[in-house]
Amino acid sequence: MTIEINDLHKQFGKNQVLKGVDLTIDQGQIYAVLGPNGSGKTTLIKSILGMVIPDKGNISVLDSPIKKNWKYRKKIDYLPQIANFPPNIKVKELIHMIKDLRNSPSEEETLITLFGLKPFLNKKLSTLSGGTKQKVNIVLTFMFDSPLIILDEPTTGLDPKALIRLKGLIQNEKAKGKTILVTSHIMQFVEEMADEILYLLEGEIYFKGSIKELLERTDQTDFEHAIAAITTTESHA
Ligand code: ADP
Repeated sequence: MTIEINDLHKQFGKNQVLKGVDLTIDQGQIYAVLGPNGSGKTTLIKSILGMVIPDKGNISVLDSPIKKNWKYRKKIDYLPQIANFPPNIKVKELIHMIKDLRNSPSEEETLITLFGLKPFLNKKLSTLSGGTKQKVNIVLTFMFDSPLIILDEPTTGLDPKALIRLKGLIQNEKAKGKTILVTSHIMQFVEEMADEILYLLEGEIYFKGSIKELLERTDQTDFEHAIAAITTTESHA
């Protein structure tokens, strides 16, 4: 089991965001975390990363409980939604900085070529377009070789060519037996990539299953409509 979550609760002030999430994530699959805005997707992901401390419940990553165990984070490659890069350093300096911080073997050269970033290596981050910044973000995530990859809105700002490259990259990592957790608002991307859908609603996992199962459950023929219809169907997963 790559991730196991039992009875996870988290509230911010009076806002009970996670109300008893139970979830198992198996190795070697791509999982899409979906749900309406504010349903707790980021809170769930940050709990797995140890960036949000739950009020109650347990999380194990790669068979070890994460409580008071920061080392497990080395086994996760995380692409944050909004990369707040320091504006005044150059792309190549940032890549070196992250390599020094992680102190793990990295392979950035092929990724830099794949995303056409060579001409930007000596440019300051503040001068880059949103899409180019996202390509840098992707390089920083995929240059390490961790068994678990968590991607928060990875397609943001990407041009069609880069999007194709990203999809190929994710499939490659999956083929190596890695586990991938991804959030995305782009239903076409989710439909193409995800083996399993995790749908969060009102603080719980409302649906967990394949796209085929989701279509059957909602009695729909296309994925986007199935997602829209999911909350009007009766039974829970
Ligand atoms: P999603 O990613 O599904 O849009 P989030 O996990 O970001 O949802 O947020 C779920 C709810 O928790 C929202 O109502 C949000 O305002 C609240 N929330 C998230 N993080 C914090 C925080 N650090 N402090 C207070 N409220 C928060």
